[in-house]
Amino acid sequence: MRVISSGRHHATFDFGGLRVISLRDGYIDMPPTRLRDETGRTFDELPAAVPLAGDNLRLSVNAFYVTDGTRSLLVDTGASDVWHDPTMGLIYDALDEAGVDRAQVTDVAITHKHEDHVSGLIAPDGSEAFIGLERVWIGAGDTSVFTGRLEPIRNRVVSVSEEVAINDWATAIPTPGHTPGHTVYEITSGAGRLLVWGDTVHVPTLQFDRPNVSWEFDTDQAKARTARRALLERLVRPDHFVAGAHLDSPGIARVTPSGSGYALEYLAPPIG
Ligand SMILES: [Zn+2]
Repeated sequence: MRVISSGRHHATFDFGGLRVISLRDGYIDMPPTRLRDETGRTFDELPAAVPLAGDNLRLSVNAFYVTDGTRSLLVDTGASDVWHDPTMGLIYDALDEAGVDRAQVTDVAITHKHEDHVSGLIAPDGSEAFIGLERVWIGAGDTSVFTGRLEPIRNRVVSVSEEVAINDWATAIPTPGHTPGHTVYEITSGAGRLLVWGDTVHVPTLQFDRPNVSWEFDTDQAKARTARRALLERLVRPDHFVAGAHLDSPGIARVTPSGSGYALEYLAPPIG
């Protein structure tokens, strides 16, 4: 897997016969008090390896578009304008920049129900962002999000309750913990595997090294830890890669064992 082009809001990767486009929706600043150490307490002091933007952690917000030239899948959709935060909602610009026609998006897979992942299905003007949308995969435990602003999408929801193939190269795998319906999507190309893992990690400079560090919004912190460890272990193999919603944009990396934890090596320089 290698990067073949990039811009301000996107980076395109060649992955065997597939194209994988990382789409930068933007970023969100969060206080370090969202982090929980191995004993469940907040940190008095963060390790020096964790950078701050002012007093906050700065989390990239990424979505990923995969295509074989005929079939395509968009995983997550960014925050649109729901947080009234101009640092997010850039996915539509990112798609334009990458040359992807939004009207051609038929299949969307959502990692979980949180607003920075699902809200982009509806554009800031209230219309559906993807007018050709046919199917939206989401974990069974998270389908309740399709009310209110997202109600118009409900009739296209495909509920995922067990591992299931979406097409020839994409498989949905339930990984409850961060939310009850948290789901990761594995993309297969020859011997290669790309795991689009949603919110398995929020702070890459800390949680690869210390996978038992969790996040306040992990609904079930014990389950989220177990899922994180299992997915990291799954990734330390040749030709395995991770695409993370909150890894530093463009957010695609390989994973290696390191001490009692793991290290990540990004496949492309930062964007945004
Ligand atoms: Zn998130």
